[in-house]
Amino acid sequence: MKISHEVIRKKARHLLQSSDSYKLPVDLKAVTKYLSIRVIEDNFDDDVSGLLVVKEGKAAIGINKDHSKNRQRFTTAHEIGHFILHHDKGESEDIFVDKKWAYFRDADSSKGIDYKEIEANNFAAELIMPADLTKEYIRKYDLDLFDDTTIYKLSTYLQVSEEALTIRLMKLGLVEAY
Ligand SMILES: [Zn+2]
Repeated sequence: MKISHEVIRKKARHLLQSSDSYKLPVDLKAVTKYLSIRVIEDNFDDDVSGLLVVKEGKAAIGINKDHSKNRQRFTTAHEIGHFILHHDKGESEDIFVDKKWAYFRDADSSKGIDYKEIEANNFAAELIMPADLTKEYIRKYDLDLFDDTTIYKLSTYLQVSEEALTIRLMKLGLVEAY
């Protein structure tokens, strides 16, 4: 069953608030700690970004340590998304393996993208670039989003890639798609 973006946004915000992490830049370690999820950086095939394993009530996230820090951060948030949105609490074992999921592609099942992957990506974006906090920050510092230097600085501050940030700003209606 698909989950609406509004519900995803609420769940991400609730998680940030519960773990006392509703501030920028978001401290993902505090979030995983709050959820008692162990995060392990490890060697994986290059096409594997990360995975979520749940066994006997304990959860662990594996992250490809050869990928960039920004990507690792996004993948961690994506796996937290699977844990919050898709992990069936009734199952004693659950595993999600993420190979090159396509964040930059459109949500279109005809292209073979599972809606759960889109949802986990949306959750990840809401978690590390929360809508209200991001907008507030931009307003507070009167940032010029049409300046590449600003985008670079903001992406560095938020610890996300410039691409992920640009997509996020478009989705928030702060810059126009072109
Ligand atoms: Zn996934």
